[in-house]
Amino acid sequence: MYGWRGTILNVDLSSGKIDKEKLPEDMAWDYLGGRGFNIKTLYEELEPGVEPLSPENILVFGTGPLNGTPLGCGRMTVTTKSPQTGFFVEGNNGGFFAPELKFAGYDIIVIRGRADKPVYLWIKDEKVEIRDASHIWGKTTWETDRIIKEELGDPEIQLRYIGPAGENLVNISIILGNRARAGGRGGAAAVMGSKNLKAIAVRGSDGVKIAHPTEFQEALLEIWEDLDVDGSKDPFTRIWGLYGSPIVLRIQQEYGTLATNNGQEGVFEKVMDISGEEFLKNYVVKPKACFCCQSPACSHWCEVRDGPYAGTRTEGIQAGSTEALGSYCGISYLPAIIKGHALCNELGVGMFSTGTTIAWAMEAFEKGIISSKDTDGLELRFGNHEAMLQLIRKIAYREGFGDLLADGVKKASERIGKGSQDFALHV
Ligand code: SF4
Repeated sequence: MYGWRGTILNVDLSSGKIDKEKLPEDMAWDYLGGRGFNIKTLYEELEPGVEPLSPENILVFGTGPLNGTPLGCGRMTVTTKSPQTGFFVEGNNGGFFAPELKFAGYDIIVIRGRADKPVYLWIKDEKVEIRDASHIWGKTTWETDRIIKEELGDPEIQLRYIGPAGENLVNISIILGNRARAGGRGGAAAVMGSKNLKAIAVRGSDGVKIAHPTEFQEALLEIWEDLDVDGSKDPFTRIWGLYGSPIVLRIQQEYGTLATNNGQEGVFEKVMDISGEEFLKNYVVKPKACFCCQSPACSHWCEVRDGPYAGTRTEGIQAGSTEALGSYCGISYLPAIIKGHALCNELGVGMFSTGTTIAWAMEAFEKGIISSKDTDGLELRFGNHEAMLQLIRKIAYREGFGDLLADGVKKASERIGKGSQDFALHV
């Protein structure tokens, strides 16, 4: 098969059994990969009523036929039954993991069961092993990235991991890779945590076969020319390449759709303080991209150099960060948003869901529905970035008021009641 490596990797953490199954050719044609593979697997395997955090739930990582080719970026899909919604959660995140998995010889990983102690999965071409992760349990995602690479002696290893939030079964936790590539809103990381699976590490050494290499290369050159930041005819491509998605905030502002103060308003008067322009001018160090990114790199390595959050370094600030941790919460101090983004990534909580949940709590506080007695003494007013940062930690560790918020805005508002459900933003 071209485009595929032809193997599904099945891992049962309860029994420790690992087996490799041939990827059925009709499945490859009918479901195309990633999302299609994952949903089919979930649909066929999960019994109705399966408890998301039980060993009976499964976690599926699916690649696509272009991952691992120069035309395929690094995106991959993780799918499971969500502990937050009871429906399925599907996270699509970038980086380098998906191509590396293909290089190792696999198209899909299906994780079943639950290990009896913390473990991580190590895939090195045909060799696959379940290793002890007791020494990494409790570590942040960044520490996990460093420790596993050092332990296995290869800085090029690609990883997917969870932070303390996933271990603490936080419903708004996410799975990360490359220290910034997040996916799986709806508690995919909590499912991984419930299985005692801290990380998956992969390294491969073989390529993906292409049926018509010459034609493929010609098509590739055409696409690259079209997406060249300086030469592109599409103005949005040029802007995207320069600023990344934070530029979107000003467009939303123009249309009156920039959710502000928990969506009470659609215009944020301090939008320029958190704009893509401000970010690029004062905080960006260099652009970063996923594997063979066809679009101009949308991600940036950034740094806060002065003020109370000086020394914060992180990657992957997107419009989601500046909106969810910014305008949603009435926060216009960009260093605090960058710090919040770094905390979300390191602790493994999703910044969209976290920002939305904190913004709801701020509105409930300002309306007198909750008080500082409920919030562990925090003055949860819009714009209070110190309180927002404390809450991110509390959510990840399920501490005090953070425990209520850790299940997401819908459940938190149902528990608080008193009309707060009316302004809880969720779908
Ligand atoms: S546009 Fe951004 S997310 Fe997409 S492949 Fe490129 S760097 Fe990755």
